[in-house]
Amino acid sequence: MTDDAQRWKAKYLENLEQQERLEQRWEARLDLLRRGLVRSSLAAEGADKAVDQCMRELREIIRGEQMDAGLAALIPRLEKAVLDSEQRRQQRSEQNVAGITGLTAQLLALELPREVRKALKQFAKRIDERARQSRELPALLAELSSLQHKVLEVLGSDQVARPGLLQRLFGGRDEAATAEPQASSTAPAPTEVAEPAQAAAPSPPPIPPAPAPVAEAAAPALPQVVPGAMPAPLKPVAILDSLPLDARFFTGSDDPAYALPESAEPGYSAVAVHVAQSLLGLLDELELPARHQPQGEALRERLQGGLNWYELVPLLDDLAVLVLAVTDSGQREFAGYLKQLNERLAAFLGTLSEAHEGYSESIESARSFNLELREQVGGLQASVQGAADLDELKHVLETRLDGLLTTVAEHQRQREGREADVAERLQALVQRVAEMEQEAQVFRDHLEEQRQKALIDPLTGLPNRAGWSERLELEVARWQRYGGELLLAVLDVDHFKRINDGYGHLAGDKVLKIIASELGKRLRKTDFIARFGGEEFVLLVPTTPLAGGQQLMETLRTAIEACPFHFRGERVTITLSGGITAFATGESAEQVFERADQALYRAKGQGRNRILVA
Ligand code: GH3
Ligand code: MG
Ligand code: MG
Repeated sequence: MTDDAQRWKAKYLENLEQQERLEQRWEARLDLLRRGLVRSSLAAEGADKAVDQCMRELREIIRGEQMDAGLAALIPRLEKAVLDSEQRRQQRSEQNVAGITGLTAQLLALELPREVRKALKQFAKRIDERARQSRELPALLAELSSLQHKVLEVLGSDQVARPGLLQRLFGGRDEAATAEPQASSTAPAPTEVAEPAQAAAPSPPPIPPAPAPVAEAAAPALPQVVPGAMPAPLKPVAILDSLPLDARFFTGSDDPAYALPESAEPGYSAVAVHVAQSLLGLLDELELPARHQPQGEALRERLQGGLNWYELVPLLDDLAVLVLAVTDSGQREFAGYLKQLNERLAAFLGTLSEAHEGYSESIESARSFNLELREQVGGLQASVQGAADLDELKHVLETRLDGLLTTVAEHQRQREGREADVAERLQALVQRVAEMEQEAQVFRDHLEEQRQKALIDPLTGLPNRAGWSERLELEVARWQRYGGELLLAVLDVDHFKRINDGYGHLAGDKVLKIIASELGKRLRKTDFIARFGGEEFVLLVPTTPLAGGQQLMETLRTAIEACPFHFRGERVTITLSGGITAFATGESAEQVFERADQALYRAKGQGRNRILVA
């Protein structure tokens, strides 16, 4: 072999070697790429069905022999599937942005405290940018959920704390109402009490330990539990255990009149009927002016259709508006009446001054008539004296007398005309005065009716504190004038708070109503009883010696103790404590009241369910 041929051969071998090395490297690279593709295709799976299908095929092709042809067929399909999938992803992210933005806007539309609103606004600003990245979505939703939670919290507390329009308009409720939160703060939550498990239990719902009243806390360790009186039980069982024996074997528990309502602290649905009835009653009491009657009717229909919790607040607001309109129209009616009265008085004065003018005119005309008569009589005299013969005298006399008669007749005619005029005016005046008196009477009756209503306690139907003050003044004045005896007593239901706490306010209300009627039944016509407030009653007993008064109080006390109140078939004994005293000469009603109240306080201290005389 020539040198040349040697060189070519060496070069060929070298190239061959290089070629082999290159091929090996390509194989290795291809292998890497294959593995990479398989892994990527596995990782990409799950995002889109069509893409997933392409990926599966891709793996098959890569693993198989016909890679070139397979890939050539697959790649265009894969490209299309990926493009479609991308488009759908885009749509989804738009929907995410729109959804989250909408929800945030809804929250922002609510009335919120500043800090919550600020946080929501900041959140809203970045929704667009964040909601487009799917990895941001979980964090974004978590943030939104926490913001929403805050908003709901705010709204929840707002619902509880925000006073209704009625309350805002007319201020706080009476003593009973203000004492309520205190009672319910120690009482179990309404839902707990109303739980079916408890409802099925044979005993009443648990009565929480009652916090000692301030006065008692200050007093030196007064006994709390007294046989016969309501003890201080932790549980209803304790009430039953400490009842007198006869009460424990109580069998007459079926008189529905004395049954305490079952729902311990009722949920809204349980009181809805009661609320609706009260509101209907209120609506009935309203004397709606004609132009407000359609609104009244609409409200009545809403009430009769059954109320739910959400309708109550707007309904109360509407009712408040109506009440205000009625008050306003009452005032306007009264102002209208005064205006009318004023106008009538002005007309009255006008007629009077016309009558007076007529009277002055008639004096004036009487004067001129007088003058005329004098002149004519003077003329007659002169003519008589100047007459030469009888004929002339006769003639002169006749003419003069004619003139005189005409003057008298004319004057009489004028006077009669004026008198008829004045009589007519006076008649009109008399009629007007009668009308005015009648109208004033209607107003007086109306005012009296309103006043009487304001003196009555709507729950028990007894006179309230205002009614008491009025009657007290009257009885004291009578007693001061005629002497004799006048007794004043104060009665207070024992441990009434526990009745509320244990059986609910509805039961408490029923107890108060029954006590009021039981007490009222046992009094004379001349005795007077009023609800002084809460669970306290006051009595005025005239013309009775103190011993007789004490006996009467004992009768009342035992009557209440014997009332067969019951709850779920179990006897509930309710008792009263009281103090009674007599008016002594020179004393003010306040001093006497204070003395009776002190006696009541001592009766409580000595174990309740007793009457003490001061
Ligand atoms: P005491 O024997 O010392 O008189 O104890 P008490 O629990 O009767 O007295 P307290 O003054 O502590 O509680 C009176 C309760 O009466 C508080 C209040 O919630 C309730 N109350 C007052 N008015 C009403 C009412 O109209 N209806 C109802 N259900 N409860 C009322
Ligand atoms: Mg009491
Ligand atoms: Mg009291």
